[in-house]
Amino acid sequence: MIEHAPLPDVDDTTRPFWDGTAAGELRVQRCGACGRRRVPPRPMCPSCQSLDAVWEAVSGRGTIWSFIVPHPPLLPAFMPVAPYNVIVVALDEDPTLRMVGNLLADEGAEINSVDPQTITIGEPVRVVFQPAGEDIVLPRWVRS
Ligand SMILES: [Zn+2]
Repeated sequence: MIEHAPLPDVDDTTRPFWDGTAAGELRVQRCGACGRRRVPPRPMCPSCQSLDAVWEAVSGRGTIWSFIVPHPPLLPAFMPVAPYNVIVVALDEDPTLRMVGNLLADEGAEINSVDPQTITIGEPVRVVFQPAGEDIVLPRWVRS
């Protein structure tokens, strides 16, 4: 675990997402009116402006849509683990739904456990869940 890493702010809009990760589920919002899924969570549907939303679990499977290797200046918490990767995952249920995370060598590994030069766009990945402190469980990714 990265010491003193910044953690997400949890509010009424995002709480169901974080409740899901704590329960070992990747959940996305679906509009209660038009049915479109959306990521990240937000109060209003960007398609039909409805405020109705439901949450549903997705498979947690996707493909690497893009990735980067952050370079300094980095936030102090991340300096000891650089170089590390940040990936964008397109979810299998709908590849226009994309989540940002890190690719790990295995479920308990650090974010610098994969050589960034081995990462390929289009690789299949699956979600894993890592406790990150203050009751936050982060979704991260491993190769599948
Ligand atoms: Zn809608």
